[in-house]
Amino acid sequence: MANHKLDFRDKPINLNERGGRKWVYAKKPSGKWFTRRTIFSYFMLLFFAGAPFIRIKGNPLILLDVANQKFIIFGAIFWAQDTFILALLMLSFVLFIVLFTVTFGRLWCGWACPQTIFLEMVFRKIEYLIEGDYRARHKLDNSPWTTNKIFKKTLKHGIFILISIAMTNTFLMWFIGSDGWVELITSPVQENWSGFIVMLLVSAFFYWVYSFFREQICTMVCPYGRMQGVLLDSKTIMVTYDYRRGEPRGASGNGDCTDCKQCISVCPTGIDIRNGTQLECINCTACIDQCNKIMHVTGKAPGLIRYASEASITGGHTKIWNARNRAYSMVLLIIFSFFVYTLVTRPVIETTILRTPGLLYQDHEKAISNVYNIKIVNKTHNEMPLEIKLISHNGNIRMAGNKMTIKDQGMFESTFLLFIPKDEIKSDKTEVEFGIYSNNELIETYKTTFVGP
Ligand code: SF4
Ligand code: SF4
Repeated sequence: MANHKLDFRDKPINLNERGGRKWVYAKKPSGKWFTRRTIFSYFMLLFFAGAPFIRIKGNPLILLDVANQKFIIFGAIFWAQDTFILALLMLSFVLFIVLFTVTFGRLWCGWACPQTIFLEMVFRKIEYLIEGDYRARHKLDNSPWTTNKIFKKTLKHGIFILISIAMTNTFLMWFIGSDGWVELITSPVQENWSGFIVMLLVSAFFYWVYSFFREQICTMVCPYGRMQGVLLDSKTIMVTYDYRRGEPRGASGNGDCTDCKQCISVCPTGIDIRNGTQLECINCTACIDQCNKIMHVTGKAPGLIRYASEASITGGHTKIWNARNRAYSMVLLIIFSFFVYTLVTRPVIETTILRTPGLLYQDHEKAISNVYNIKIVNKTHNEMPLEIKLISHNGNIRMAGNKMTIKDQGMFESTFLLFIPKDEIKSDKTEVEFGIYSNNELIETYKTTFVGP
């Protein structure tokens, strides 16, 4: 590849020679790709804000209720006992991301990542509106504190703080649900100081990220960005500079690149795409639009910077499928099919029966009794009348009625005594089996031990 200088590799682009922050004043992007991204981002923003309010059979579309170990993902309910199924789902998701990245590069970063969407489509747009484009902002930042500057900075940061608070509250709804959130904000602050302080801290964090830290999340912090080196290959499609067409650059060369550096001025991470694939490139497409404008002015064909693979630029290889992404697809298909199978065939209730810790057995005249703790999780969307019976022995269960009704997605926890006649106890540890019935239909069995003399 024709690179003029390689010193861009010496240090992160947003640090100066002394290691201090070099602020990126990105030019306001515009063009075909930016319009497409803007429309897509509105759908994503709608999804972020609307997901906790969308209901499927009365349940939120997404709920990550960590406190109660209950997760709802697109209407499917997962409990702590479903860790295996959740792990399969996570594994499928990671594999999907890998497959997607191998084939289409950092499409996620440029189009769907919340960091990019909020920074480029919300915070940066407000900044452009209040402080102007890159030159005006640079001038404002380097000017003395006049009334105009104080007004603009106060207005901008005031709006940033309000948006950060709104983001935190939306984020909170993903974890406690919209009803839980309404309950939280309508109850007096003094009843929930810890929640209130967490909300303020998270808001302060968002405000700091989107006001000051900005693109450094992508270039220095995000682990996904760091993985690009091992995921991308020469056939991966990404935002690429066609150096065969562009070089030698500049007025004296005869390549299509005029060396106007407009692609750099518009880049939100401040890099030069002409240096080739760099982990700082979030594939935001801003340089495609900007370079196309220059090509239009110079009367050249658009697409000097475009979505393309290295292989397609060097040798015209345009096939998307190769051995690597075929292999990933196969593994993904197997794991995802297994996930769907385990999800569809999982029991509708999850029962745990354990002997109460620290208690042995009680000796009665004709029977021996053990104390058990029982926990039943209803994974269905229906209320379930349940009944517990001992099916392995001729025993007797004593619980406050041994009939129970569990609300949809509810949990039942209790303690009961199991009596087994002495003549049925053959050793000091006997395996017993319980049956859980609903409307006289056996729906689950559970084995545990019964201790005796
Ligand atoms: S915008 Fe296009 S023509 Fe201008 S420097 Fe970048 S690649 Fe070259
Ligand atoms: S190089 Fe182009 S696609 Fe990559 S981050 Fe910069 S402007 Fe966006």
